[in-house]
Amino acid sequence: MKALVFHKPKDVRVETVEDPRIEDPRDAIIRVTSTAICGSDLHIYNGMVPQPRSMVLGHEFMGVVEEVGSGISNLKKGDRVVVPFPIACGHCHFCAMDLPTHCESSNHNTYGPEGEIIIAKGAGGALYGYTDLYGGYNGGQAEYARIMYADYSPRKVPDNLTDEQVLFLTDIFPTGWSAIDWAGLKGGETVVVFGCGPVGIMAQKAAWLKGAGRVIGVDIYPYRLERARLTANVETINAAECDAVQVIRDMTRGYGADVCVDAVGMEADRSTMEKIVNVLQAEKGSMKVLEACLDAVRRGGAVTVVGVYGSPYDNFPLYKWFDKGIKLMGGQAWVQRYIDELLSIVESGKVKLDDVISHRVPLSEASRMYDIFNKKEDNCVKVVLKP
Ligand code: NAD
Ligand code: ZN
Ligand code: ZN
Repeated sequence: MKALVFHKPKDVRVETVEDPRIEDPRDAIIRVTSTAICGSDLHIYNGMVPQPRSMVLGHEFMGVVEEVGSGISNLKKGDRVVVPFPIACGHCHFCAMDLPTHCESSNHNTYGPEGEIIIAKGAGGALYGYTDLYGGYNGGQAEYARIMYADYSPRKVPDNLTDEQVLFLTDIFPTGWSAIDWAGLKGGETVVVFGCGPVGIMAQKAAWLKGAGRVIGVDIYPYRLERARLTANVETINAAECDAVQVIRDMTRGYGADVCVDAVGMEADRSTMEKIVNVLQAEKGSMKVLEACLDAVRRGGAVTVVGVYGSPYDNFPLYKWFDKGIKLMGGQAWVQRYIDELLSIVESGKVKLDDVISHRVPLSEASRMYDIFNKKEDNCVKVVLKP
C-alpha cells in the first residue's frame, strides 16, 4: 500500500510499504478514506519529538472496515468508522478510570540498542503514528491501517454524515472539548484561547457549546485569526501586534479572563518566538504562551493546556500559579470518554467542524502539504488527505 513515511526531520515521503495485517484477535484493518495532518505531526516533522526509525505517521483518520480479528463481533466488513487517536484497551487500570490516554496495555516496553528498557510499561499510553515514545505503532496517513482494540475504540458513523463532518472526532474536537471541560464552566465565563490553529478553533467552538459568555482567540497570523472569527465567531487579538495580556486585562475590567486555554504548545518557544522577536521589540516578544495564560487569567480562574509540551520548562512561574490560586490542567485529550457525546452533538447540527479545512488533497501530495502546513503558507489551517 501507499503511506506517508517519516524518515528524518523534514523528510517525509509517500512510499509503498507492507500492508498492515491482523496481529491480534482484537484487531481490525480499515481502508482509510480520510486522514488529516495535525499540529502534533509537526513536532515529529520538526524533530521536536525524536523518532529514530522510519514509521508511518498519522493519528487522525477514518475509513471502512476491511477485515476483523477473530475476537471482534461489534464491527464487520463495510462498516464506516472513526478512530480515536489514543490506543486504549478498555480494561486496564487506567482505562477502568476512563483515562484512555494512559492505557497501560498499549505502550509496551521500548528497548534500547543494548536491550535496556527506555520506556517502562505504564509510562503513558500509545498513540497511532506517534513515534516509539508512544508505542511505535504505524499511523493512518496511509491507504490501510491496523486498528487495535477494535471492540473498544472505533465508533461507527451514520451514513448521512460525510467524512469531513466526523473526521475531527478522532482528535481535535475532543481535544478542544477537553480544554473546556477541564476548566469546568458554569455558564457566562470569558474564555481566552491562545492559538487559532485547528485545535484552538475547536476549543473556541467547545467554549460556546459549554455556555461561555464571551470567547476570545489569540494568534500571531492574521489569516488564522480571520478563520477563527469566521468559523468560531470569536473576538480576536493579534499577539504579534500588541501586548495580548494587557489587552485581555483591558477587556475584562482589569481582572483577567475566567479561563485561558493554551492551544499552542511548545512551538511557541521556537519558530513563532523567532517570528515575534523579529517583528516586535524584545520586551513585547517575550511572551511564552503558558506564562501568558497565567498572566491573563483572573485570580481563582482556570488554565488548561492542550498544546503539547515535551521538555522541561525553565523558570516556570510557580508563584503565579500559587498566588492566584489557578486551577491548572493539561494533557492528551480523553477522546474515548467524550466521543459519543460529541458525535451526537455533530449529528444534532449544533456544531460544524469541517469549516477548519483549508486543503483537501490526495495522499500522494502529503509531503508537500507537510511543508506548507509547517510554514503556514497558502493560508493553510487544516489539511485533509484522501488516500
Ligand atoms: P497549529 O500549529 O496549526 O496551531 C498552533 C497555532 O498557535 C498557530 O495558529 C500559531 O500561529 C499559533 N501560535 C504560535 N505561537 C503563538 C503565540 N506566541 N501566541 C499565540 N498564538 C501562537 O497546531 P494545532 O493542530 O492547532 O495544534 C495546536 C497544539 O495542540 C499543538 O501543540 C498540538 O501538538 C496540540 N495537540 C494536542 C492534543 C492533545 O490531545 N492535547 C491533540 C492535538 C493537538
Ligand atoms: Zn492530532
Ligand atoms: Zn487500557
